[in-house]
Amino acid sequence: MYDLGDLYQELILDHSKKPRNFGPMDVANATAEGYNPLCGDKITVQLKLENDVIREVGFQGSGCAISTASASLMTESLKGRTREEAEHLFQGFHDLLTGEKQAPAELGKLAVFSGVREYPMRVKCATLAWHTLRAALHNSGPVMARVSTE
Ligand code: ZN
Repeated sequence: MYDLGDLYQELILDHSKKPRNFGPMDVANATAEGYNPLCGDKITVQLKLENDVIREVGFQGSGCAISTASASLMTESLKGRTREEAEHLFQGFHDLLTGEKQAPAELGKLAVFSGVREYPMRVKCATLAWHTLRAALHNSGPVMARVSTE
């Protein structure tokens, strides 16, 4: 495993082994699929949107520990958020992993991924779920959106 610091590593390992909100969702009204060809991570994100609020969120797929843990922690942080808040979190998470910026406090546990910045190959693993979420938010229709990080 990568040297992300013990605490970080523990949280990421825990979520990769026991992903939260994992499995198909009957009530979903927005879905998107994401693929990270660099690593082979595949994910489907499902949402139940009520007006502008994310009432339920779940994911399925298979990928490395980082991509699974990121998706799991993402779903935990999204319930009850509006589209706008979700977009804001996406930006914060993206900045955390790609930029020089400090993690905004509202990222909470998601800040554990700051260590991934040291491993550029893994950044796309960590952001895949978020790109897929974004596609789902912009696509609450019957046609499934597909994103690739390539
Ligand atoms: Zn990966």
